[in-house]
Amino acid sequence: MQAALVYDASMEAYDFSPDHPLRPERVSLSIALVEAYGLIAPDALESAAPRPATRAELLRVHVAAYVDAVVRASHDPDLPVGHGLGPGDTPAFEGMHDAAALVAGASVAAIERVTSGAVRRAFAPAGGLHHAHRDRAAGFCVYNDAAVAIAAALSADPDLRIAYIDIDAHHGDGVQEAFYDQPRVLTISLHEDGRYLYPGTGSYRERGAAAGLATVINVPVPPFATPECYLLACESVVAPAVRAFSPDLIVTQNGADAHWSDPLTTLGMTLDGYETLFARLSDLADETAGGRVVALGGGGYSWQTVVPRVWALLASSLVGKRLPDALPESWRERVRALGVDPPETLREDAGPQIDDATRELVLHDTRHVVEKVLEG
Ligand SMILES: [Zn+2]
Repeated sequence: MQAALVYDASMEAYDFSPDHPLRPERVSLSIALVEAYGLIAPDALESAAPRPATRAELLRVHVAAYVDAVVRASHDPDLPVGHGLGPGDTPAFEGMHDAAALVAGASVAAIERVTSGAVRRAFAPAGGLHHAHRDRAAGFCVYNDAAVAIAAALSADPDLRIAYIDIDAHHGDGVQEAFYDQPRVLTISLHEDGRYLYPGTGSYRERGAAAGLATVINVPVPPFATPECYLLACESVVAPAVRAFSPDLIVTQNGADAHWSDPLTTLGMTLDGYETLFARLSDLADETAGGRVVALGGGGYSWQTVVPRVWALLASSLVGKRLPDALPESWRERVRALGVDPPETLREDAGPQIDDATRELVLHDTRHVVEKVLEG
């Protein structure tokens, strides 16, 4: 099965500063692993070049005053332009507009390749910048590539219906905002409960509005939520909602920051858990959307060792191949060159360091949240 991989090295320009946690190398190191595993091949992923999103494409999601502020700050990063740009999570940097427009354009190109029928699946690993809002940058995100891509597809085909599934540790607030009253987009976010983690939103009470009422679903999971919790949420909430919605395609945001080792979050996912979840989502796409999936990247801050393994598992799920557990030595060498001990195998994972009582409690709390979501 052939799928498109929309990425090139110029996307590393999306770089806030050397000491910012969102390292562009996490994407290149992931691509290196995907490539070392032989997944960039005629029967697997085909490389496709990104192109920048146009101003008109950005304006479907963002207000003009914000895009203009990004452009101004790109020329002079010290200029106080407001709109969430500046000291803090999302500092301005030279060339920021071009870099962020390229990330957004890659996601648009990925969705276009799927809607045109060129491929059934596409992967845009630099995308998934789900916190960018209509009028402001937030949480390391300048332009909301996910929303820009979905809006482009809706605009090109007035009958298209899209399900967006966000498994990043953080609530997909910007995408939810963009389509809060849009009945043609179902947004589902599984994330660490906003009482404990940025951005604080994503309660199960947020359900959409007007014509989009009930097309927004949030499953805030408790800290230390394990793969069991994620699979429960997937089976009990995500799968039935997507079946009922009957989308033409599924867009996924695949933040790797729900892994238990992530330095910015407190969840309990594992490599095995991700692999199983990716398989379930692929099956769900086959069942409900003709197999059409556009997979975006997302967060993930254990970037040398965890993010590349999670996204290699994602890439393998998109092309229906199971990867051998032995990690390619060339890739392990590359990690070693960063001064980090590489993992021994693809799926090696100590798992969250919690006792059985905590594991049970976390599952119990997740069941409770699922009941609340299903009550509507
Ligand atoms: Zn995140």
